[in-house]
Amino acid sequence: MIDLSSDTATRPCAAMRQAIAQAEVGDEQRLEDPTVLKLIERTCQLLNKPAGLFLPTGTMCNVVAIKTHTNPGEAVFLGDRSHVLRCETGSAAVVSGVVMDTVAAERGAFGRPELEAALYQPSHYSAVPSLVCVEQTHNFGGGAVWPLRKLLEVRAVTLERDLQVHMDGARLLNAVVASGVSAATYADTADSVWIDFTKGLGAPLGAVLCGQSDFIERARRYKHMLGGAMRQAGLAAAGCLYSLEHNLDRLAEDHRRAAELASFLASLPGVKVEPVDTNLIFFRVQERDSEELMLAMEQRGLRMGAVGESIRAATHLDISDQDIVKAKAVLSELL
Ligand SMILES: *Cc1c(COP(=O)(O)O)cnc(C)c1O
Repeated sequence: MIDLSSDTATRPCAAMRQAIAQAEVGDEQRLEDPTVLKLIERTCQLLNKPAGLFLPTGTMCNVVAIKTHTNPGEAVFLGDRSHVLRCETGSAAVVSGVVMDTVAAERGAFGRPELEAALYQPSHYSAVPSLVCVEQTHNFGGGAVWPLRKLLEVRAVTLERDLQVHMDGARLLNAVVASGVSAATYADTADSVWIDFTKGLGAPLGAVLCGQSDFIERARRYKHMLGGAMRQAGLAAAGCLYSLEHNLDRLAEDHRRAAELASFLASLPGVKVEPVDTNLIFFRVQERDSEELMLAMEQRGLRMGAVGESIRAATHLDISDQDIVKAKAVLSELL
């Protein structure tokens, strides 16, 4: 099966498994796991933030960060197709008791005008605005890079209005590789930011949330509260460290393959492809039921995923040039 359904569809390679097997470990929740501590240090360096927290998933990073930034009854501003709003089971409402207020976005991203249009002066009628969430790259925006200019505008508005910014950086490193802007420069536009090691980097589990030291100390309580405090988690962190050392620069290959597949798709009759910035391709096929089409693909050894009316294909570590050739052959046959 050529699995383009997600960039999480990777298996740890032999060398990564070796690194995992040989990891030095300790008790993570007592801050005694040396491999976890090393991973946090590396991630803090990459993002130029003073402190970090190792969590099992990116979703838990968002849940913990929003809980740490807000009080119940406050308002969080985010894009109408953001992962926090669409894919996290309403956790911000349940765990943090916040109102989620949407901001108009283009390919997932907004800047000063859109944010200012959504914000309001708090009164005794309203929820109190406290946090803005951004997402880099933006998944349902088409894997789009949130332009630095717009992130700087968001930062400026939030400083003027005394709001915090949280960055969902599940694919921040794809944005770095695609744009040439450093991870630290992007991270500087937010108070908290996390990266996922299980997307393009290809580790089996783990994410690190970074921010100021007092923020991370408060976040640690919520990590524990949600059951995210672990024991010999260095096994997982070793996979993350390996992925950071070996799989970062090669993200450019995923982007090249995605661009190639996207331009091929665009050449087929009745196929409308969204612009591709990174490793995600979203497309629609006129007068074809996407479920039926994806089933036919699967029968021919090609898997993609449905996102609403669109089909999403993600390139990743386990997809080769040869796989792209085969995928094109299947698509030619079906379309
Ligand atoms: C995958 C993803 C998450 C959640 O990460 P998990 O590690 O799967 O929990 C959050 N935000 C975005 C944009 C994602 O793509």
